[in-house]
Amino acid sequence: MQATKTPIDVNPIDCSHYINGEFVQSKNGETFENMNPATKEVLGIVQIGGKEEVDNAVKAARTALKGEWGTMPAKKRSQIIRKIGDLILERLPELAMLETLDTGKPLWLSKSVDIDRAANNFHFFADCVTTTGNESYQQDDIAIHYSVRKPVGVVGLINPWNLPLLLLTWKLAPALAAGNTVVMKPSEVTPMTATVLVEICKEAGVPDGVVNLVHGLGETGAAITSHEDVDAIAFTGETVTGTAIMKAAAPTLKKLSFELGGKNPNIIFADANLDETIETTLKSSFINQGEVCLCGSRIYVQREIYDSFLEKFAAKAKELKVGDPFESETLVGAMVSEEHYNKVVSYLDIAKEEGGKFLIGGNTLYEEKGFYIEPTIITGLNQDSRCVREEIFGPVVTVLPFDTEEEVLEQINDTHYGLSASVWTTNVKRAASFSAQIEAGMVWVNTWFLRDLRTPFGGMKHSGLGREGGVHSMDFYTEQTNVTLKL
Ligand code: NAD
Repeated sequence: MQATKTPIDVNPIDCSHYINGEFVQSKNGETFENMNPATKEVLGIVQIGGKEEVDNAVKAARTALKGEWGTMPAKKRSQIIRKIGDLILERLPELAMLETLDTGKPLWLSKSVDIDRAANNFHFFADCVTTTGNESYQQDDIAIHYSVRKPVGVVGLINPWNLPLLLLTWKLAPALAAGNTVVMKPSEVTPMTATVLVEICKEAGVPDGVVNLVHGLGETGAAITSHEDVDAIAFTGETVTGTAIMKAAAPTLKKLSFELGGKNPNIIFADANLDETIETTLKSSFINQGEVCLCGSRIYVQREIYDSFLEKFAAKAKELKVGDPFESETLVGAMVSEEHYNKVVSYLDIAKEEGGKFLIGGNTLYEEKGFYIEPTIITGLNQDSRCVREEIFGPVVTVLPFDTEEEVLEQINDTHYGLSASVWTTNVKRAASFSAQIEAGMVWVNTWFLRDLRTPFGGMKHSGLGREGGVHSMDFYTEQTNVTLKL
């Protein structure tokens, strides 16, 4: 790989907490170094929030609920939220650069997906402020029953590293739209864009104390989830962390929304349009280095087309460019961190031990430079192998043949996960009946990652709790009081 191109005129930043409208450092003096996974260079220093910072952030958020924000007319709140989206778009080149430095993902992807969709989250939820309705029922001439929405209160937003700004704003925008105040903790692996976001919120007119940011590791997150004055937690991350958060939140009975891990199947029937299927399956397998919760990492192909699928899929996957995230041709950049790279590499070893065959890939690349792994297609494994059952979260997919609809349905549902699935068939009747039987929160038919923010987003089983998107987000971020008016 050539030397990484020097990023344009954007400098990486040190990351401080943002509490009650001011950037502050940790009282305990604890910090860590933030690393660029594409070059192993240090990007900056990040503060580690202790109990004191979390207490101060929660206190600021509680006070702000009672201030200007709590009585602000919905129209004005909506204008401020829209303005945040506008300012994100104005600063898109800078935010995309920081996201790529933090994550190792291709710059074109940061621009076109991460940052662009982050702005869209605010534009979308700015509309929800004024368009979300309430239930009302007329009971003959006896009474009218109607519900009134109120903010839940102080909400903790805890986020992962794979789509840092996109997923943080997917929670922040509806939380603000519903009138809450927040304490956010981005992933320690990717702290930079959240730090710019709070500046943007201030510039857009968000009053001090409404949006607070505390950086840190899991312990900082735990201080938020167990805090007695936090009313709700919206969390995206690993299933095992979700379990810990549920325990920590239990004594104070917090409202919880979880978006957790997945091991999503991609089911390709013999009557599928093979070229279209392969084009999209390349993306659902390898885009963002396979570090998307919705990636289809276990592929099931009907036996009649198994060989021809593998031949074409492997040939195209071999052409994918791995390397410098700042090159426009790169599809697969660096893995997000050394720790995560080691986890994915360990699964390559497990695949070998389990008797898997690397049709392509299976190797690390440019070790002296950063944390790169080749797109890898594994065949020859069975349904019980760990590589087919466990979330690898890298550019690694398994491919298994199947014969009948019944057989593959049993295999894809035979998991604790239930986030998403993709089905490829030209038979509409089968598409409808098969999709309805899949135990997953989201099923795409002849496509992948196509989103409409009004639809319910989330997973079932160990992949999540509740749904986000449109009115589903507004339901989570509000409490409803039912009023019965006797006529
Ligand atoms: P993670 O669970 O390790 O960390 C997520 C966040 O939780 C981080 O900010 C971390 O500091 C914090 N945290 C860790 N321990 C905590 C604790 N005990 N209490 C409170 N907070 C704690 O997840 P990750 O490795 O950052 O992200 C990858 C995972 O996220 C994958 O499993 C992926 O599938 C999942 N994910 C799911 C979705 C979805 O929509 N379902 C979307 C993106 C990512």
